[in-house]
Amino acid sequence: MTLGYIFLFCCSLLVLGGILSRFLWNSQVDFLQTELERKAELLKTTCDWDALTGSHELNKFRRIAGARITLIDPAGEVLADSDYHPRQLQNQKNAPEVKAALQSGYGSSIRRGEKEDAYFLFVASTIPEKNREAAGVLRLSVPLSQVDASITKMWRIFFGALLVILAVGSFLSRRLATGLTRPLSEITAVARRIAQGDWEIELGPLTQGEVGELAAAVNGMSRTLKEKVRELAESKVRLEAVLANMESGVLLADHVGHISLVNRAAEKLLGITEKDVLGKSHVEVVKNYLLSSLIDEVLRTRERRKEEVALIFPKERILEAHAAPIFGARQEPRGVVVVLHDISEIRRLERVRAEFVANVSHELKTPITAVKGFAETLLSGALYNYRAAEEFVHIINEEAERLSRLILDLLELSKIESREVKMQVEPLELGAQIKWIVNKLKPQFQKKGLTLSTDLPAGAFFVQADRDRLEQVFLNLLDNSLKYTPGGGQVEVSLQEQENEVVVGIKDNGIGIPSEDLPRIFERFYRVDKARSRKLGGTGLGLAIVKHLVEAHRGRVWVESELGKGSVFYFSLPQEQKE
Ligand code: ADP
Repeated sequence: MTLGYIFLFCCSLLVLGGILSRFLWNSQVDFLQTELERKAELLKTTCDWDALTGSHELNKFRRIAGARITLIDPAGEVLADSDYHPRQLQNQKNAPEVKAALQSGYGSSIRRGEKEDAYFLFVASTIPEKNREAAGVLRLSVPLSQVDASITKMWRIFFGALLVILAVGSFLSRRLATGLTRPLSEITAVARRIAQGDWEIELGPLTQGEVGELAAAVNGMSRTLKEKVRELAESKVRLEAVLANMESGVLLADHVGHISLVNRAAEKLLGITEKDVLGKSHVEVVKNYLLSSLIDEVLRTRERRKEEVALIFPKERILEAHAAPIFGARQEPRGVVVVLHDISEIRRLERVRAEFVANVSHELKTPITAVKGFAETLLSGALYNYRAAEEFVHIINEEAERLSRLILDLLELSKIESREVKMQVEPLELGAQIKWIVNKLKPQFQKKGLTLSTDLPAGAFFVQADRDRLEQVFLNLLDNSLKYTPGGGQVEVSLQEQENEVVVGIKDNGIGIPSEDLPRIFERFYRVDKARSRKLGGTGLGLAIVKHLVEAHRGRVWVESELGKGSVFYFSLPQEQKE
């Protein structure tokens, strides 16, 4: 801006100078010309021709007139000259002023002098004939150097003025420009920092006027941006927290099916990590035909879809996948969001329930069929065969007892499961409980030729438990040891203290459990060998009851077993603080 102003100043001053110098030149030359014309007139009227030709007289007039005087005859020959000897000068017939004077009586010209390298103003006028027989031409001339000098002087003054104006002008325009540009450059710097993400920055107090308004607008913009960014960051944090802590897996794919987001649950469900799969195609990431097809279909149809998907990797799972299209602000498709629910547990429970109903019906059917069959046999005549009748009635009684046991166990299990009966917890010393139960059961074990012993460490181990239910846990586990350990075997009940819990172990050297059955052994009605269990009076519910009871006491139950060598059933209970 400063340079622009200066350039404009210079141009206008130079143009002005040019016009002025031209005007000055013209007016000075005009003035000189009139002067010379007057002087010529004066000389013509006051002097006669001969007086003028006398060189002495001519010199006198030259001094008075202040101009070179030349007398020329009509043929152009110089008759006399105030500055030169006539012989030094050429014929002046072709000089423009002489030519014009000879034609019209008067002529003037500006041209280079023949002897000097400078410009002269020539004024020529004819002398009437009456002074002489032939007319001649009187010519006066002055050098134009004085006009040049005055113009140079004018230029000098002009350049002086120009310099002063330039200095003042550039100072003023600089001030004006910096008054405008400094705040502008400050605003630019702040805007740049805002663009780089420095939301905290604001402009200090600035000038009034338009620049001030701009600064206020930038400050306003920065504040709004700051607020918006804060809101965005907050909602991002909220969204991330929700996504990260969701039980369901969430996958986001863009409009071409490239994965753009995976939450923690989805990482776990699909066995992937977000940073490894971002930007990759969903086919490559989910590695499941049904799930990929679901995403493709939603991308194509832009409609929500639901699908049940069975996964094998990283774990066998059944997922319910809900996929919905995502649209942008202008309803343009932006991709798909897939929500994955792990329904393996629900499906397993459904299966367990169905199996349970089938199992219960089956378990009930067997004794009832037996009772019905024997009763019918009795009615159809066996009643009168005393020995057969007695045997059949025994069997009916046994089956009825089994039925009653089964129903009692079922009732017990359902009561525990529905938490219908409140537990009467009290502090119990576990060692004493074990001793009491072992003493109570010893005769039964001895009858079968088994030894029942204990391995209890010194000290008291208190737990919070319901006495009757704890007894039931021991009874069920010891009853199993008794049932599944052949005569001559050994059963030992041990107690261990571990961190904040006590662990009870019931070890036998009986038939053991095949390793493939171990994970399911605590399920209802699950039995390794149905026939053997039934023969021994088992219902298949004993361990299920144990598991529920121990878990109701906030404990755990597990088993270690080797086929043919024996089993150890463990359960833990949280230990009561000693004091
Ligand atoms: P049951 O009434 O058949 O004994 P349980 O629920 O108590 O039912 O036990 C389930 C199955 O676990 C049994 O049928 C048996 O196959 C196995 N089992 C339980 N305890 C033992 C043990 N101590 N030794 C070997 N097998 C056992």
